[in-house]
Amino acid sequence: MRPYLHRSFKWPTTPCLHHLPSAKRFKTSLSPRLPSFSLQHTNSNPRHSATTVLHPPLSILPPSPSIPQIKQAHAHIIALGLSRHRSIVCHLLVACAISPSPSPEYAYAIFNCIEHPNVFSRNNMIRCYAKGGTPSQSLALYADMRRNNVCPNKHTFPFVLQACSKVSTIADGVQIHAHVVKLGFVEDVYVRNALIHFYCAFRELDDSRRVFDESSEQRDVVSWNAILAGYARDGKMDVCEELFDEMPERDAVSWSTMTLGYVVGGKLEKGLELIREMRDKGIAPNEATLVTVLSASAQLGLLENGRWIHSTIKALNFPMTVPLRTALIDMYAKCGCIELSRQLFHEMPQKDVFVWNAMICGLAIHGLGAEAVKLFQRFTHEGLRPMNVTFVGVLSACSHAGLVSEGRRYFESMMEDYGIEPEMEHYGCMVDLLGRAGFVSEALQLIEKMTVPPDPVIWGTLLGSCRVHGLVDLGETIGRKLIEMDPTHDGHYVSLASIYARSRKWEDVIKIRRLMVDRGANKVAGWSLIEAQGRVHRFVVGDRTHERSREIYEMLEEIGRQLAVAGYSPDVSGVLHDIGEEEKENAVREHSERLAIAFGLMVTGVGGLIRVVKNLRVCGDCHEVSKMISKLFGREIVVRDGSRFHHFKDGECSCFDYW
Ligand code: ZN
Ligand code: ZN
Repeated sequence: MRPYLHRSFKWPTTPCLHHLPSAKRFKTSLSPRLPSFSLQHTNSNPRHSATTVLHPPLSILPPSPSIPQIKQAHAHIIALGLSRHRSIVCHLLVACAISPSPSPEYAYAIFNCIEHPNVFSRNNMIRCYAKGGTPSQSLALYADMRRNNVCPNKHTFPFVLQACSKVSTIADGVQIHAHVVKLGFVEDVYVRNALIHFYCAFRELDDSRRVFDESSEQRDVVSWNAILAGYARDGKMDVCEELFDEMPERDAVSWSTMTLGYVVGGKLEKGLELIREMRDKGIAPNEATLVTVLSASAQLGLLENGRWIHSTIKALNFPMTVPLRTALIDMYAKCGCIELSRQLFHEMPQKDVFVWNAMICGLAIHGLGAEAVKLFQRFTHEGLRPMNVTFVGVLSACSHAGLVSEGRRYFESMMEDYGIEPEMEHYGCMVDLLGRAGFVSEALQLIEKMTVPPDPVIWGTLLGSCRVHGLVDLGETIGRKLIEMDPTHDGHYVSLASIYARSRKWEDVIKIRRLMVDRGANKVAGWSLIEAQGRVHRFVVGDRTHERSREIYEMLEEIGRQLAVAGYSPDVSGVLHDIGEEEKENAVREHSERLAIAFGLMVTGVGGLIRVVKNLRVCGDCHEVSKMISKLFGREIVVRDGSRFHHFKDGECSCFDYW
C-alpha cells in the first residue's frame, strides 16, 4: 500500500506560467492602446514641432529601445555637446517612456535637466513612472503639474489612469475621473478606454460598464476589448459572449481574450474551438493565450490537444518565444512524451530558469531521478540560481527515484546555499522521500520542526509510510489527528482502518468505518481519461454510460480470461468496504483506468500505444494488471496518475513498483 495523498508533484503546478502570472495574463492582451509618442514622430506640441529635427544618436534608436541603447545615445549626445539642447533632451525622455522596461530613476535624472518642463515632458515622465514599479510617483507628478498650473492634455490621463490601476486603492483613480469630467476630456476615446481599463483593474465592472455604455460613438475596438477582458477575468463568460457577438469589429486581442476566458474558466474545449476558428480565419492568438491553452492541456494530460496547438503555432509561423517553448516542454512532459520535451529543451539556444524548472520537474514525474539530478547540477554549474520551484522538482525527482541521501543533501543546500525557506511542497517531498524509504522517525522529526504548520496532506503522507512499514502505534496517533483535522476526507478513515486491519484490531476497524459513515466523509471521485478518435473519453468506476459500454465490458471479460490463464489473482486489500470478496474483485476490476485501458485496446491499432490519465494514484492491483496487460497484449501503456507517470512495457513498469 502506498500513501493515498500526495504532494510530491502537483499536476496543476505549471512552472512555465511563472512567466505569466494569472493577473498578468489578461493584462497582456488588453493593455490599453495608449497614444504613442514614437521617436519617429515630431513633438505633439505644435509650438515645438518646428524645431524637432531628430539628431542621429536618437534617430537611429529602434522603435522600443532598451535602457542601455538609450544610454549609448545619451553618451553620443553629450559627446556632441548637445546635452543642453531642450528638444533633444525631451526626446531622450520619450525614448525612456517607450522603452519596454523603463528605468524611472534614469528618466527622472533626464527630466530634472529640463527647465520649466512642459506638459509633453511631464506626460512622458508620468508614463515612465506608471510603467515602472513606482506608479504613486506618477500621481505625485500629476499633482505637482496641477500645482504649477500646467494644464494636462488628453495624453496625460491615460498615463495617470494606468498608474491609478496599479496603486492599492481606487480612490485616486476616482478623483482623476472627476478631473477628466471637469476638464472636459470625457469624450476622448483614449481617455475613456483608460477609464474602462482602470475600473476593470479594480473589478468594478458596473462602473466600467457605465463608462463603456455612456457614449456609444466614442468607442473603438480597444474599448470593446477592455470591457470584454474585465468580464472574462471575472469569469462572466455569458456576458462576454453577448459582447463578442455585438462587437462591430474584432481583432486578435478580442479572440484571444475570449479564448483565455474559456480556458481559465475550465472550458478548454470551447477555448480550443475558438482557436480553431481563429486558425481558419488566419488570426494568430497572442502568446499568453497559447501558453495558457498549452498549460491547460498539460494539466489534463491531453496530448492530442497539445500537439494540435503545437502544429497551429508552426502553421501560423508564430515566433517560438521562450515562454512558448517552456509551455511546450511542460506540456509534452505532462502528457507523457518526455523525449519530445528533451528534444525541445536541447534545441533551445537560450534557456532561462523557467525552462530548466519545466525540464527538471518533467523528468521528476517520469521517475527519471538520476537524470533530473544531473540536469540540476548542470543548471547550477551554468551559474543559474535555482528558485523554490526548482527545488520542488529536484526533491520530487529524488523522492520518485528513492534517492534518499541526494534528497537530504539538496534540502540542506536549498536553505544553506540559496537561503530558500522550505515551503509546504518541499516538506511534502522530503516526508514522502524519507517515509517511503523507511526513515519514518526522521520524517516525523522533520514535520515537528516545520516552520509552517503541517497540513493534512503532509500527515497523510506520513500515515501512508506508517502503513507501508507496519508502524501501528504511530499510524494510529497520526490517523486520529488527521480525522480531527480533516473529517470529510474518506482517505484518512480508510488508511487508519487498514492500519488497524493489519494489526488485526477488528473492533477498531468497524468503529472507524462507522465513524466515516456517520460523518458522511466524501470519497474523492476517481476518473480516467483517454483521448481517442479526436475526442476525450472519461470514465468513472463501474461506468456504464459510454456509448460503447457493452463492448468495453466484453473487453474486460477478455482481459480477465487472459489474466486468469497467466495465473493472476486480484489483490483487493485496497478495497475497504463492507462487501463480499467477489464484489471487491468486481469493484477493483471496474476501476476507471481499467475501463479506459480496455477502451484503448479496442480503439488503437494493433501494437498502438495507450495513454491514460487518472486523477488519483493508481491502486496496487490496477498497477499489477496494467503490467500484465502490457505483456499479454503486446502493448505499451502510459498511465499518468495523481503523482507521476507509469510506462508499462513487457510486463514491467518504469517506476519499478516504487511509487
Ligand atoms: Zn485500481
Ligand atoms: Zn508504475
